[in-house]
Amino acid sequence: MRFMTRSRAILLLAICAAPVACDAQQRRPGQNRQPTIPPPSITEYKPQSTLVVPEHEVPRARFPVVDIHGHPPTLDNPEAIERVLGEMDRLNIGVMVQARPSSGQRLRSQIEAVRAAGHEDRFVFFASLDLQDVGPGSGARIAAQLEEDVALGAVGIGEISKAFGLYNTKADGSRLQMDDPELDIVWETAGRLGIPVFVHTADPPEFFEPLDYTNERWLELAIFENRRFMDRDRFPSFDDLMDERDRMLMKHPNTTWILAHMGWHTADLGRLGEIFDAHPNVLGEVGAVLYDLGRQPRFAGEFFAKYKDRILFGKDSFQPDEYPYFWRVFETADEYFDYYRDYHAFWKLYGMDLPDDVLRAMYYENARRIIPNLPTTALPGERPE
Ligand SMILES: [Zn+2]
Repeated sequence: MRFMTRSRAILLLAICAAPVACDAQQRRPGQNRQPTIPPPSITEYKPQSTLVVPEHEVPRARFPVVDIHGHPPTLDNPEAIERVLGEMDRLNIGVMVQARPSSGQRLRSQIEAVRAAGHEDRFVFFASLDLQDVGPGSGARIAAQLEEDVALGAVGIGEISKAFGLYNTKADGSRLQMDDPELDIVWETAGRLGIPVFVHTADPPEFFEPLDYTNERWLELAIFENRRFMDRDRFPSFDDLMDERDRMLMKHPNTTWILAHMGWHTADLGRLGEIFDAHPNVLGEVGAVLYDLGRQPRFAGEFFAKYKDRILFGKDSFQPDEYPYFWRVFETADEYFDYYRDYHAFWKLYGMDLPDDVLRAMYYENARRIIPNLPTTALPGERPE
């Protein structure tokens, strides 16, 4: 696909070498005219769509869902558990993975509180890793802690935050690279225990690009200073981070990896397909990238069908009223409807109209396959092959 872009650029050059064609292009009517009244700023302009088309709100998912990327509040008390459970029932979320990871006593107190409330069939917990100041011997220590946490009841690792790759440093002060050999024993332990590793690497590629008026995420980057990674003296480039991540994946083919946010490759699904093809042990998760999927409903729909065994549902931040936007994009053929966060995307969304077998795979079947001991009482039964 990157080839196509290049050949298109060459074609354009060829056209512009012919003076007549370029001249005609320049004189397109109105092209260079300026507004005669002061234009609004980027934050002021809020055009209301006049399009009247069929609308299908989807308050509940069509099938019970495992939210692999859950960030509910800490579930160590009955009030928090019941409140989250009420929202899950309303949205048709069968099982929530607590992906705000914890370890030791914080992990134990949540597992025990959920059990005491009688809801251990609705929540599972992922373990955290202490990746601060990694030095000789750290890997064995982290792996031993992981074994303890899994014995307590953790069924996965993560979400490992983007700090891994961007900010975490080693004991000697250097940046901790994702493929650092000291951590090999941790990933091998996860593989041996049969638990998935859920990892968030980098951030959307635009966050690593110059903050100029061609950047698709200009508004978001203007709002959030801590999302700007374009300073190459402080941060690796997006592609360097992804290469580092891919070397880590390649070293551990017996470990199951879940790339948070589809690896931030949703603007280039062909690239994600190459990663899936090269690494059969890798899955992607759809949290917080709906803006990209909903602007390419046909191409993304074909991708989801082709890789239906590799995609997991996840939402990221726990805002119950935002889940139905995901159901609507995945389940309907609605056109040109609003997204929930304007600084992510200036565009409207379209429904992918995914078939039931693709929905089932993403919503719960893949999660059931890769998470050991996932409680299944809140999920549909196994379908005969
Ligand atoms: Zn997250």
